[in-house]
Amino acid sequence: MGQMIRAIVANEREDGVRGQLWDLNTDELPDEDVLVDVAYSTVNYKDALAVTGKGKICRTLPMVCGIDLAGTVKESRAAAFKPGDQVLVNGWGLSEKHWGGYAQQQRLKPDWLVRVPESLSLEQCMAIGTAGYTAMLCVHAIEDHGIGPDAGPVVVTGATGGVGSIAVMLLARLGYQVSAVSGKVDAADFLTQLGASEVLPRDELDRKARPLESERWAAAVDSVGSQTLATVLAQTAYGGCAAACGLAGGIDLPSTVMPFILRGVTLAGIDSVMASAAKRRRAWDALAELIDTEKLRQVYTVEPLARVPELAGDLLAGHIKGRVVIDVNA
Ligand code: NDP
Repeated sequence: MGQMIRAIVANEREDGVRGQLWDLNTDELPDEDVLVDVAYSTVNYKDALAVTGKGKICRTLPMVCGIDLAGTVKESRAAAFKPGDQVLVNGWGLSEKHWGGYAQQQRLKPDWLVRVPESLSLEQCMAIGTAGYTAMLCVHAIEDHGIGPDAGPVVVTGATGGVGSIAVMLLARLGYQVSAVSGKVDAADFLTQLGASEVLPRDELDRKARPLESERWAAAVDSVGSQTLATVLAQTAYGGCAAACGLAGGIDLPSTVMPFILRGVTLAGIDSVMASAAKRRRAWDALAELIDTEKLRQVYTVEPLARVPELAGDLLAGHIKGRVVIDVNA
């Protein structure tokens, strides 16, 4: 006989698909090989879309939401993991096709699990979360393109968001000059404390761009898309690289081929969900090395599971700076 656990479950409700606090029996969990006592999850943009129903994220219902989690292995039928191992999961279709992290326990495939780096706690792993791991993938794309700190400034859009704030921290730590772009009027102190050299208002990039504009950026981390990414591309310097991971401003890209064919600019697509295990290990090893845990503490709050629906609305309304960690047992 299973035990009762709490979860945020998306289901068809009177007002459409919504995620709500729900009691589950552990017997209902999927039949996967590793049972994890979940400690923390987080609220990422995709989680906010799933829980509010504003985006069609959950492909099957009912769905335990939460695209990431960190916790401790309780039982394992897989040789690679044993009870007591600390693990984390990002993506792999959690909250889309597979039950995710907003639950006190979850059953998961061993291939999805990453061992928690020794220098990070479960809480810190989720303060970084999928947003921070995606920021690291973006930074790796820029580095792999051969762009180092001497190449010139790197622009980060959606800079007070989860991806953006961690990207600012990581790039500054690596010695890049970071220009942070934010729509929040009170963002400057927050972003300069994280390491930004300058803070630009969102309007400066969120506008119709000319095919080519003055070369400003050696590289970019863009979590916004749409007009913002088009302007970033038009301003990226010869041979530069824009790592595109998000759509907070829209899914369109009203650009031209000019940055690509006249300046050799590269648009690097970043996907965290199905990234290979090797890419994930590389990203988490780098995060463990680069994250300044004192700075990290300034960019997140810890909230109880029951507040997820409210926080999801706040995040989509643009009211949250940095990251929200969810203590699933609080
Ligand atoms: P957040 O909501 O935390 O951050 C998004 C930020 O974008 C906001 O804080 C805001 O920053 C800015 N923003 C919001 N709305 C607009 C708008 N209309 N126009 C311009 N800027 C806007 O989300 P996350 O950091 O979790 O995710 C950011 C994006 O990255 C999302 O689109 C998400 O889906 C995507 N993502 C993609 C992943 C992948 O695998 N490719 C993985 C993780 C995230 P400010 O107020 O400072 O301008």
